[in-house]
Amino acid sequence: MPLRERLKRTMLRVGYVTGGDPTANTLRVEMISGNIKEYRYDHLVVALGSVSRVLPIPGLTEHAIGFKTIAEATALRNRIVRHFELAEGLDDKDQRAAYLSFVFVGGGYAGLEGIAELADFARDALKRYPRCRETGTRFTLIDAADRIMPEIQPQLADFTKTVLGKRGVEFRLNTTVKEVRDDAVVLSDGDTLIARTVVWTAGVRASPVAERLGLALDNGRIICDSTMRVEGYDNVWALGDIAAVPDAARPGFPCPPTAQHAIRQGKLLGKNIVAVMEGKAPKPFTFKTLGAFADLGRHTAVANLMGLRVKGFIAWAICRFYHLAWLPGADSKSRLIADWSVEILFPRDLAEMGQLGHPPALGDTGPAAPLPEARPVAALQPPAGQSPTD
Ligand SMILES: Cc1cc2nc3c(=O)[nH]c(=O)nc-3n(C[C@H](O)[C@H](O)[C@H](O)COP(=O)(O)OP(=O)(O)OC[C@H]3O[C@@H](n4cnc5c(N)ncnc54)[C@H](O)[C@@H]3O)c2cc1C
Repeated sequence: MPLRERLKRTMLRVGYVTGGDPTANTLRVEMISGNIKEYRYDHLVVALGSVSRVLPIPGLTEHAIGFKTIAEATALRNRIVRHFELAEGLDDKDQRAAYLSFVFVGGGYAGLEGIAELADFARDALKRYPRCRETGTRFTLIDAADRIMPEIQPQLADFTKTVLGKRGVEFRLNTTVKEVRDDAVVLSDGDTLIARTVVWTAGVRASPVAERLGLALDNGRIICDSTMRVEGYDNVWALGDIAAVPDAARPGFPCPPTAQHAIRQGKLLGKNIVAVMEGKAPKPFTFKTLGAFADLGRHTAVANLMGLRVKGFIAWAICRFYHLAWLPGADSKSRLIADWSVEILFPRDLAEMGQLGHPPALGDTGPAAPLPEARPVAALQPPAGQSPTD
């Protein structure tokens, strides 16, 4: 969503927040020019989100990729196309199999939706790669718990497992990852899965920038009261994944890191700051989760709507309509409807877009430079001179 299009009455500056001093009302920002600028504020709202939660597993940050940002999702899509091209050119069947095997670690929504979508993408792509078709693809989901998607009822989780199992997704539950290598994953039960793609979707943690802002933290999230005011300050506020806003539905726990909460917190927080400026009392955040969806692709989803279990096509249609309804702007909604309609009528677009943003040198007619690999999960900082939204 281009911010300038939506935030018509906002003075927007693109930069990377590197730290601040809330006792002096200052914020340090590395601008896209590379210059460091210090901003003074009357009120500060911290909404920096979260990053992939990584564990000290050998090889994880070197070889696995995350599934948290659009850049990572696009890189994953490109990688699958590139791996199909590489595998198609290989004579050795075992080497081909390593390029055609994909492992997801983490059986929450992100992992389930990710593996379902990628498996569908691979199924469509296989039609164009005869040698890869002969070898076949392998998709495996690993989780340390004894079930997937703890956020929804066990019946829906079982349905999800059955649907994806029929599509060839293998589940390795009660299993952890011991090591990630360039071409394999070593599991806690002693097995080694040959795979050249490992996607890490085992949870998120608050942005580490929170630690550099000098605010009190609970498990990495900024401690605030139910009005979203940060502990110890009258003019510092926090919301979304980075904030431990008390959850009215579960006393003693912070709100879960979901967009459902962040969007509603944003609206109330704006009103609360105005209230404080007018000398009125800010209001507490009292939203209770309405439900949860997991889109399993191929017109199937599972949903828990205020305790009601829905699955199959109806859940998928509700899920699509709900996300469409939340997208701001008629233009964005129309683009999405057009995109979904094209998807129904025509085969998938399998163009490899890895060179986007990395064009060959001017006048260079030689072979294309090797494509950059997807960003590893540990890369929390954008490269120098690049904004976090690039
Ligand atoms: C794959 C996936 C699927 C999900 N699906 C759902 C779903 O279906 N429903 C749901 O409710 N939730 C879902 N979520 C969770 C949801 O995306 C988050 O809870 C929500 O985006 C949090 O909002 P936020 O404003 O706190 O952070 P974000 O939306 O992450 O926004 C943070 C912003 O801060 C910027 N930023 C970060 N660091 C800096 C810095 N140092 N300086 C300047 N800017 C910075 C980032 O570029 C970003 O624009 C999903 C998450 C993932 C990863």
